[in-house]
Amino acid sequence: MIPVNTPKLDGNEEKYLLECIRTGWISSEGPFVSRFEKEFSAYIGKKYGIAVANGSGALDIAVKSIGITSGDEVIMPTFTIISPAQSVVRQGGIPVLVDSDPDTWNMDVSQIEQKITVKTKAILVVHIYGLPVDMRPVIDIALRYNLKIIEDAAEMHGQTYNGEKCGSFGDISIFSFYPNKHVTTGEGGMLLTDDHFLAERCREYRNLCFQPKRRFMHEDLGWNYRMTNLQAALGIAQLERIDWAVKRKREIGSLYNKYLSGIRGYQLSLQTTDYAENIYWVYGVISEEDAPISAQEIQKKLAEKKIGTRPFFWCMHEQPVFNKMGLFLNEHYPVAEHMARNGFYLPSGLGITDDEIKLVSEELRKTVNH
Ligand SMILES: *Cc1c(COP(=O)(O)O)cnc(C)c1O
Repeated sequence: MIPVNTPKLDGNEEKYLLECIRTGWISSEGPFVSRFEKEFSAYIGKKYGIAVANGSGALDIAVKSIGITSGDEVIMPTFTIISPAQSVVRQGGIPVLVDSDPDTWNMDVSQIEQKITVKTKAILVVHIYGLPVDMRPVIDIALRYNLKIIEDAAEMHGQTYNGEKCGSFGDISIFSFYPNKHVTTGEGGMLLTDDHFLAERCREYRNLCFQPKRRFMHEDLGWNYRMTNLQAALGIAQLERIDWAVKRKREIGSLYNKYLSGIRGYQLSLQTTDYAENIYWVYGVISEEDAPISAQEIQKKLAEKKIGTRPFFWCMHEQPVFNKMGLFLNEHYPVAEHMARNGFYLPSGLGITDDEIKLVSEELRKTVNH
């Protein structure tokens, strides 16, 4: 059995977790939480880190804390996990979608400007699968139109854009530490910002908007999105090995590239662009028009061989939940639709061995050649 993801937890994870249990510090009040916030924000190069229960919660807080409210428009990719879109919709905002770039699979930044209206408040960039969004044009547009940037860097720990860390570009940025991310806390997330007041608001929203003076009197609605000391303990141990993790992710990608090179009818994860080298959060494959067998069939055949895969994200404009709300009706984004229908990814977690990568690649080739 080769699962689609296996985490790697053989550093100081056990030691720090034991420390939590022996000292009794298990809740969000424990000392690892603020230490993890400091160390992770310093690593990315932001002043403030606010650790939360998961990446989706971080997006809820990000969207609310920068003031997205009823009728505000937020430009984002249609090809993404639902988290950023649902955070905007929950605040009464309207996601305004753009199609994807067929090579990098990220939002096509050349489509952003034409989507701007008087109601546009922010651009929400989501770095997809291992290559960063082309940030330079996004930053230029945000400056020219006075828009905020929310940066979803949930898949990008340690990735850079032109040498600068992903997660350092947003007015507010978020990360996830789910086990398929290459820094994991089991469940977890973090918000990052350089703005002191924004950071304070995030802390309030994370903690039910309790007030320092009258704790149980509330001026606003927040969430309980606190991270526990146990999670932060894992995070600190994981962060100690981030350089190794980044290197290993790239090795995993290179091995797939090597073993799958020349395969006909399938588009593979792009290795490099002008501004970044792929970190392969996941190693993706898209079946093209002339593919001998479809993505779904490959996934089924690999499952029979006990090899885990996952389909690509499903576009936001084709989500029944949003269509039922009257959102995105009759909108079409052909590149993203093609990716969603024909894309899947191979086992790419840090726990995978070189032999397993070889085996997966061989099985994929055999499946395709039959
Ligand atoms: C994983 C992920 C999230 C959500 O994070 P969770 O911790 O699972 O809630 C958000 N955005 C992107 C791009 C992700 O990959």
